[in-house]
Amino acid sequence: METKPKRHIAILGSTGSIGTQALEVVKANPNKFAIEVLTAQNNADLLIAQAQQFEPNCVVIANETLYEKVKNALADFPIKVYCGANAIADVVQMQDIDMVLTAMVGFSGLIPTINAIKAGKTIALANKETLVVAGDIITKLAYEKGVNILPVDSEHSAIFQCLAGEFHNPIEKIILTASGGPFRGKTISELTNITKNEALKHPNWAMGAKITIDSATLMNKGLEVIEAKWLFSLQKNQIDVIVHPQSIIHSIVQFQDGSMKAQMGLPDMKLPIQYALGYPSRIKSDFPRFNFLQYPNLSFTKPDTDTFINLKLAFEALDCGGNAACVLNAANEVAVEAFLTDKIKFLDIAKINEKTLSKVIFKNNCSINDYLETDKEARAIAMEYV
Ligand code: MG
Repeated sequence: METKPKRHIAILGSTGSIGTQALEVVKANPNKFAIEVLTAQNNADLLIAQAQQFEPNCVVIANETLYEKVKNALADFPIKVYCGANAIADVVQMQDIDMVLTAMVGFSGLIPTINAIKAGKTIALANKETLVVAGDIITKLAYEKGVNILPVDSEHSAIFQCLAGEFHNPIEKIILTASGGPFRGKTISELTNITKNEALKHPNWAMGAKITIDSATLMNKGLEVIEAKWLFSLQKNQIDVIVHPQSIIHSIVQFQDGSMKAQMGLPDMKLPIQYALGYPSRIKSDFPRFNFLQYPNLSFTKPDTDTFINLKLAFEALDCGGNAACVLNAANEVAVEAFLTDKIKFLDIAKINEKTLSKVIFKNNCSINDYLETDKEARAIAMEYV
């Protein structure tokens, strides 16, 4: 039997929800994957435990005050230890890396992703904010470097899977499914006094705090609309969103002959993670299987964008182009953080996003520096509204 060389992987954000699940996939397939780099923001204890288990070439702790702790804990291992955001942006270029899984939260993924593409690494993209902020630059660079960007987001993985073998067939449109989050069907007055704990309880998916709040406000779906535009080169009118509370159909592609392909399965992030890590091979797994008879009623409704205006704002930002999506993302990161630290109410998140989007000066044909400046400016303005 032919044995393929192992795929060497860097996981940026290894202690988060996607990172830990990716390591489960790696652990279950030791003959297919090896871990080259692990990075974390603040969770030194888990990073140390992961490093001791997977013995990567190096680890990076972004929070520099935790460097000594990580360094000392790994002193007896042949593992290099670095710290700081710049180190993360550097290590992704290491020669032995085949694939970089970008699973950190928010804007911080931008520069490491750009560096990894420049170094020719395949990207398994879980950090959707990177494409939201600078999708034009990222996709152009990936095209020039011949680098694949493999989606890890379940909806985009679904579309990507539906497109297998359809290379020459144009997409008529895609339909992104949304669970609707924990507050589906609620009115504005019912949402006024939503608590943090209520918002952090997602009905179907177990995810990190930021994305769980984004799911509750429908911002996550808005960011995914923009992410889809860049991943699949689509126009605004080629992207639909439909609420599908069971999260079984993960998204749909409609082709020019009217035929639709959907990808489905139980909501489990390990599946799209594994598909990206193993692409183009499907790896045998023992993940629970979907049974139609347990779900006799799959349902679909229109999203309520009058109550959940974030989705509307995302389509506006997409239509606007330039730095608009970067503004929306920055405002949203500030607003979600403020909500998670009890500084604002649930409905204020979308209000801050809307006000910031209308306040920051619009710019077209942006460079990376323009995006970095826009991000800073939008954060400052959003902070004033907190
Ligand atoms: Mg998703």
